[in-house]
Amino acid sequence: MPDIIHLLPDHVANQIAAGEVVQRPASVVKELLENAIDAQADAIQLLVKDAGKTFVHVIDNGKGMTVTDARMCFERHATSKIHKAEDLFALHTKGFRGEALASIAAVAQVELKTRTAEDELGTFIRIEGSKILSQNPEVTTQGTSVAVRRLFFNIPARRQFLKSDAVEFKHISDEFIRVALAHPEVSFRLVHNTTECFHLTPTKLRQRIVQLFSGKSNEKLLPLSEQTDLISIRGFVGKPEYAKRSKTEQYFFVNQRYIRNAYLHHAVMAAYEGLIKEGTYPSYFIFIEVDPAHIDINIHPTKTEIKFDNEQALYAILRASVKHSLGQFSLSHRIDFDKDPTLEVPYDKLKSLPQLPKIEVDKDFNPFLKSAGSDFTKKPATNWESLYVGLESKSNLGPSDTLEIISDEESFSSSFLDDEENNEGVETFQMRRKFIFTAYKSGFLIINQSRAHYRIRYEELLKELTDNPLPSQQLLFPIQAHFSGAEIDLLSQLKEPLESAGFQFAQFDFKGMEISGIPVQLPDERTLEVLGNLLAELENQTPDTYFAGVDILARNLAKGTAVKTGTLLKPEEQEQLVNQLFACKEPQLTPDYKRVYLKMDWSEIENKF
Ligand code: ADP
Ligand code: MG
Repeated sequence: MPDIIHLLPDHVANQIAAGEVVQRPASVVKELLENAIDAQADAIQLLVKDAGKTFVHVIDNGKGMTVTDARMCFERHATSKIHKAEDLFALHTKGFRGEALASIAAVAQVELKTRTAEDELGTFIRIEGSKILSQNPEVTTQGTSVAVRRLFFNIPARRQFLKSDAVEFKHISDEFIRVALAHPEVSFRLVHNTTECFHLTPTKLRQRIVQLFSGKSNEKLLPLSEQTDLISIRGFVGKPEYAKRSKTEQYFFVNQRYIRNAYLHHAVMAAYEGLIKEGTYPSYFIFIEVDPAHIDINIHPTKTEIKFDNEQALYAILRASVKHSLGQFSLSHRIDFDKDPTLEVPYDKLKSLPQLPKIEVDKDFNPFLKSAGSDFTKKPATNWESLYVGLESKSNLGPSDTLEIISDEESFSSSFLDDEENNEGVETFQMRRKFIFTAYKSGFLIINQSRAHYRIRYEELLKELTDNPLPSQQLLFPIQAHFSGAEIDLLSQLKEPLESAGFQFAQFDFKGMEISGIPVQLPDERTLEVLGNLLAELENQTPDTYFAGVDILARNLAKGTAVKTGTLLKPEEQEQLVNQLFACKEPQLTPDYKRVYLKMDWSEIENKF
């Protein structure tokens, strides 16, 4: 048999290696930004087109490269950052593998311009698919500019795996934000197509956070600072009450390198225990400095995972230090999670809900007027059989339930007292401002009003959003949404359906969002909440199709416009709710699969006696 093993040609080897380093345009951005930082630049510009798919350009004013280095930098394992194996344990640079430029040049068309302070003339190199096309002297400023065109031009299969521009650009802005956060003393600019998304002047960390996350104002952050023999920790953690529904503002940096580490994340979350609501996430921007000898960054090609040789100690120190910084604060701020904020909405606000089910409180209605001194259980004694539930027996209800009904006079729905015979429509009544009871052939139903209306609104919206644009209510005072540029960009993929839903935007770009009109059914005070939830969901799972986007929007808008627990419903509103619910395609579950109603058969109840 002939020998069959041979070495792969360089360009093939490079392409294979590139697969690890360059997964998407954002990987190119990350590598180029890190190189600029390693070259000690203090002003870095990032220009991208079409979410980096056609063009990524990084310009820095760092130390530049000599002619020979400019040529060398595209070789695999060519680096100026380490010389020997031991150097791996004393790293002070972001790069060290010497693979990035070789990998990028293997799968794209690259133009490099660079000049050092000492050289008068710079160098201009064009390279494509690992082949040098030209190399010439060039008049250029000190520093380096790397332009990367048509990523994956020679690997069509890889291009196909790229996601929509919105998704790819989100990855890019994530990388940009990470580097910009780690280096507040450096000025950064990010331009996407023709839009300047960020222009960050040199500053301190706290200000940099505010620059990047416009919603993060100073007073939402608590400083963090801890020095031990092993490590130093500094940075900021968000006050518990500002915890968000998405995890996006959580950053760890180790020696100024952004990292992910579930263990350390756990340490921080442990410190917040009992201070934040379940399902919400605090912001944190935590910078750990540790002797490079104690860490190993070498375990992941994109270098975002890292191993510490003393993880337990680090965990304990981190948790203690976050706890400490929350300490003072939490003493003065006990958050009462059990309080239902909807119950605190003044009635005239509730009354202003624009569409059915309308909320109207009959202020004159007082169940105690007719027979003063009588208690709730005596009152309907004449026809208690019509009451669906066994209210006639106090012992069927917990003591607190009974108490609540007596004191909560407005939830005393009047249908409750109606004569059964006179009642033509569906018989319903409301309890605890949360459940609607109604009879059906062989028993009765307990319907969760808020969930039922959520289902109804969702199905309506799904239909309407895909048909005609819905009417909008003009706001007298436009709402300013304090979202970051990246967040607004993420929302922009839903701009069209948002507008069909009735939103109108006076401004909708990286610099900000101003809302001048909102859907008719949406109370203006819930607008930001709805958009915030929408955003949280987009951050967790980006919709791939237009329909998936519409679905997310319909769900969030339905939730935002559904009647809440705590809302008093008039008999006809209850009735309408029941009728509409059972006209739905899937009345039994909410769009996020929660139970809408419970069925109780008379036979089941009879059995209990
Ligand atoms: P690494 O960063 O791991 O060393 P790269 O392939 O990213 O590998 O870069 C190779 C070398 O090219 C670097 O070690 C550095 O000497 C040089 N280089 C790359 N980018 C720049 C830049 N923006 N300014 C100056 N030198 C650079
Ligand atoms: Mg590098």
